[in-house]
Amino acid sequence: MSADVKKRMDALVAEINRNDHLYYALARPVISDAEYDSMYEELLRLEKEHPEFKDSNSPTLRVSGEPLSAFEQVRHDPPMKSLDKCYEKAALIQFDSFLKRELPVGEKWSYVVEPKVDGVSMSLFYENRVLVRAATRGNGEVGDDVTQNIRTIRSVPKILPEDAPVRLEVRGEVYMTRDGFVRLNESLDEAGRDVFMNPRNACAGSLKMLDPKIVAKRPLDMVVYNAGGTGCDSFVTHTDMVAAFARWGFKVAPFSRVSADMEGAVAAVDELGVRRHDFPFEIDGAVIKVNERTLYGALGATAHSPRWARAYKYAPERAETVVRAITVQVGRTGVLTPVAELESVELAGSVISRATLHNANQIAEQDIRIGDHVWIVKAGDVIPAIDGVLKEKRTPGIVPYVFPSVCPVCGGGVVRIGEEVALRCVNPACPAQLQRRLRHFASRDALDIKALGERLSDLLVEKGIVKDLLDVFTLDYDALTALDVGEEGAPRKFGRNALNMAEAVAAARKLPLERWLFAVGIPNVGVTVARDIAQEHEKFSDLKGSAILRDVVANDSLKGRERKILRIKYESAKAVLEFFSSEYGTRFLERLHALGIDPASVKESAPPSDGPLAGLGCVLTGALSRPRTEYAKLIELAGGNVQSAVSSKTRYLIAGENVGASKTRKAAELGVEVIGEARLKELLAGAVQSEAPLPHKELRNESSLTQGELF
Ligand code: AMP
Ligand code: ZN
Repeated sequence: MSADVKKRMDALVAEINRNDHLYYALARPVISDAEYDSMYEELLRLEKEHPEFKDSNSPTLRVSGEPLSAFEQVRHDPPMKSLDKCYEKAALIQFDSFLKRELPVGEKWSYVVEPKVDGVSMSLFYENRVLVRAATRGNGEVGDDVTQNIRTIRSVPKILPEDAPVRLEVRGEVYMTRDGFVRLNESLDEAGRDVFMNPRNACAGSLKMLDPKIVAKRPLDMVVYNAGGTGCDSFVTHTDMVAAFARWGFKVAPFSRVSADMEGAVAAVDELGVRRHDFPFEIDGAVIKVNERTLYGALGATAHSPRWARAYKYAPERAETVVRAITVQVGRTGVLTPVAELESVELAGSVISRATLHNANQIAEQDIRIGDHVWIVKAGDVIPAIDGVLKEKRTPGIVPYVFPSVCPVCGGGVVRIGEEVALRCVNPACPAQLQRRLRHFASRDALDIKALGERLSDLLVEKGIVKDLLDVFTLDYDALTALDVGEEGAPRKFGRNALNMAEAVAAARKLPLERWLFAVGIPNVGVTVARDIAQEHEKFSDLKGSAILRDVVANDSLKGRERKILRIKYESAKAVLEFFSSEYGTRFLERLHALGIDPASVKESAPPSDGPLAGLGCVLTGALSRPRTEYAKLIELAGGNVQSAVSSKTRYLIAGENVGASKTRKAAELGVEVIGEARLKELLAGAVQSEAPLPHKELRNESSLTQGELF
């Protein structure tokens, strides 16, 4: 009896999955909606009556997973790389010559051209032909486990057929359909909620949600186009592999052209360019791949991308629209950013209603006025920008725009600091700033308070629960468990996350000086600067009026200063001193003291003075075959010091692939030796003795070398 029930349930699961595939992946349904619904209802009923037989891959699980408190991390093996991008056909011809150089004479290969789907990269892992894990790319090495969310996508097979490998990893792109995106935005808008900028944002935002029930309502879909680390080795060509993916039930890109030479590939890129808006998803370019997978090993990859593929980005398109209003937003550091509110217009497949204006100067220079007809462009994945004003269409009565002289959020005064173009609200209690400061305070490289995300930061400030950054150290976290942090009209308690937050906050007390210095959010103090400054100080409280920082500021010319002090830039030193002498900074320090917190510096151990690179400055540039951080570590272990820009203190410029001309030019001017990765490896191994440092020319313009570290 119960064996029959189990059998019936298994049959229903298989039938529903098969029909899902026909319907969602192939768009070729063979049964009516009513027939489908009745199977689904029956399965739901049986699962309720016999939970012990419920299949972990039941299609009903698509919508019934429990909300998570956070995503687990998944390590990618091999890492999920990006693609080298180009914007001109000439670069594709160069790619062709590169391959001809790189591959043995007489080697034959073909090209395959596919759309570059603009979504979120995803890895799918099948164990015993059952979907067990889906993970985002993350930083390429480690991503988020979003299996629950991916299960909600009907075209993603949960079970693979018998002829698929027992263990398989495939990679592809999750996207939101354009239609689905428009519908989602309409319903968000109706509910009075913020709409998404474009389908990709909406897709990424949906995948980040911890509650799969909400994700299930989002119109997500997925195509696969890449091998993962398991189960794909036997395919000779990319197209064979993709054909097998399709046989196994995956949705694959609806456009793919193979050609024997680059001429044909370029023609396919053009064809795709013409048709690029006809797909249900947005595409942000074409991907040109070598079809013969057997050559991939020989071609290899840079730290960033495989050498056997290129992405070609189509030129941005323009659209004409009207500026309805200009609103001004206030950022974390108080910077006022104007935004053009536009008459909605479709541009490259998405509906645009806002464009960034950067700053007051841009408005003045382009003379953008409310009521003007303007061109907007969408370049790559950035927010659309205004590309020009159609002055001939300007009607009389349209007056020049006057930038507000007070903060639109708190009404406080705004100032222009130094030479900056930006105007800032300098009221540290300004709620707009506080929300963003708080997000930054909690971010990963700052105090890493994971439970305190964007939404919660905004909520805590909105509700007046947090009035100052350091309030997070005195909140009543037990009481906070009852806080409603729900999404989309679905109330949800903060619950256990409040306690996770309390734990992270407690841990933050012990974080080192560099993290705290970055966390307070001082302009011109990024992660690296914070680390450099921390190396020169013992405690957080030492930064107030620091003699070293004052020295840096006083010796603007930086002549004859010690190397370490040289690393701290004038602007950064000045900003830190200003922060600590401001009323806000003084109060911050006092309160920190009262809380019993004074972060200490963790000193990096001095580099060995006898390594093969002892005392030599090295700059890494271009694409290398191993992560840059790894080389940096090795260089430091060999006694060298890694610099961010070429200067008179540089001994070697280590140039990987695709090195920018400005770096090598600077090196040539200063007589810095440029070496390749292979030579670096020799030096690191100590196999080749490096000669004495070369004499350097006098360095004239230090400032041209500094890289701004603005947020
Ligand atoms: P990017 O993230 O802009 O550096 O571009 C690389 C990404 O393009 C990859 O990680 C994939 O997620 C995505 N992509 C989209 N379509 C394709 C495709 N047909 N082949 C390879 N990668 C693709
Ligand atoms: Zn303000």
